[in-house]
Amino acid sequence: MKICIFWHRRDLRIHDNAGLAAALASGLPVVPLFIYDKEILNHLPDKADARLTYIFDEVEKLAQETEAAGGTFLARYGQPLAVLEALVKEFEVAAVHTNEDYEPYAAERDTAVAKLLEKHGVDFYLYKDQVIFAKDEIMTKSGTVPKVFGAYLKTYTARLTDEMLLPYGSTGDFNKENLHPIAPERAGKRPTLESMGFERREQYFPPDKLPADSLVRNYHNTRNTPANEHGTTRESLSLRFGTLSVRQVMQQAKALNQKLLAEIIWRDFFMMLLWHYPNTATESYDPKMRHLSYRNNEDEFRAWCEGRTGYPLVDAGMRELNKTGYLPNRVRMTVAGFLVKHLFIDWRWGEKYFADKLLDYEMANNVGNWQWMAGTGAISAPWFRVYSPDSQLEKVDPEMKYVKRWVPEVGTSKYPAPIVEHKFARERSVEAIRAARIAAS
Ligand SMILES: Cc1cc2nc3c(=O)[nH]c(=O)nc-3n(C[C@H](O)[C@H](O)[C@H](O)COP(=O)(O)OP(=O)(O)OC[C@H]3O[C@@H](n4cnc5c(N)ncnc54)[C@H](O)[C@@H]3O)c2cc1C
Repeated sequence: MKICIFWHRRDLRIHDNAGLAAALASGLPVVPLFIYDKEILNHLPDKADARLTYIFDEVEKLAQETEAAGGTFLARYGQPLAVLEALVKEFEVAAVHTNEDYEPYAAERDTAVAKLLEKHGVDFYLYKDQVIFAKDEIMTKSGTVPKVFGAYLKTYTARLTDEMLLPYGSTGDFNKENLHPIAPERAGKRPTLESMGFERREQYFPPDKLPADSLVRNYHNTRNTPANEHGTTRESLSLRFGTLSVRQVMQQAKALNQKLLAEIIWRDFFMMLLWHYPNTATESYDPKMRHLSYRNNEDEFRAWCEGRTGYPLVDAGMRELNKTGYLPNRVRMTVAGFLVKHLFIDWRWGEKYFADKLLDYEMANNVGNWQWMAGTGAISAPWFRVYSPDSQLEKVDPEMKYVKRWVPEVGTSKYPAPIVEHKFARERSVEAIRAARIAAS
């Protein structure tokens, strides 16, 4: 019997899933699939990775939901092309459906997958699911890539309708009429963390549900108070792996809080930029900023990583990140600004460290924000702006509640003196950047 495969990637949910809804409505019985991509797993920093643990649990949940609905969920470990080729040879696969992914590696992989499937006479369908406006759907009036967030936001919100945020009907069609059961001996065993050479890492994961309406209503007042654990939505992890849909999240924000809506739109914005400029994953967007002579002092980098800089807000942030895999936005800005300006260390070192540690690591958001802080991006803070970590502390944590939670020895002799003086560091980086820009022009 001919079947179609729905390939889950960063959309680990059944509800409101554009590609899954299309597969279920295609008339061919659906077999959902997840591939633990060897290429990606090989780059994980640790054998016990919290993100992989999270993905594994979500995949197992999907498998159980699929079985409960009368189907079979396939999970494989390997290189996506090899896995797909083996599946199309083993089963009568007429089509593969999946949702678009805008990261450079994913875009290249999908081009190769399209070629492979074409060779085997299998249709390949991609759907927009993880953003509302993708790729070049919002351009400037003159047809160029938008680089001013304010103007992008204006066009975006003017075009955003309630209909665009309606859920796809994947849940209603997820039943035995549309799913295809496969005998267990043919389906094969799903990989376990151990069989892939990994271990569990228990960590707190925010729940895969929308934040309370009361939090969202008050978001603009609480978002910059790191001591308040309920000051922001904590939906970034669910958005990263698609356990919530962006439509659900935006619907709530659109109804209740315009500031939050704008923050979520930054995510679409950075994904759009990365899609247009895949080179910016590893290279500064601004050519004038590509040849800075960063200091890249390894001891200072280590002190930053371990929260030993003598700047309380920076140290609190890095210790929270190391312990929990999370950091509130305002503190992400403070620690990033400190690394790239005060220590004058290449933004790519910080970006990589965040990529290893953040549960919600999202290449587009991470690269976009790091380049923003470094003044190197398509959209950036002015290159000569250097935030004072102590002024930030006074603004966002005046009673040091957040700082004391993570740096209990602050104010005692055990706490180190500042690694560098603020004014000196500011002048040092501004002068070095100014000179490099003049040399490049
Ligand atoms: C240096 C640096 C690195 C960052 N790296 C990442 C990353 O790897 N992954 C990631 O998801 N976010 C990243 N951000 C953006 C932001 O800090 C997080 O999205 C946010 O802190 C997540 O917590 P929340 O869900 O409670 O956010 P909320 O404040 O509740 O925001 C809701 C959602 O809006 C989006 N959002 C909010 N702020 C931003 C922003 N500045 N840029 C893009 N989207 C935003 C996120 O999807 C977020 O989940 C980074 C910010 C900085 C300054």
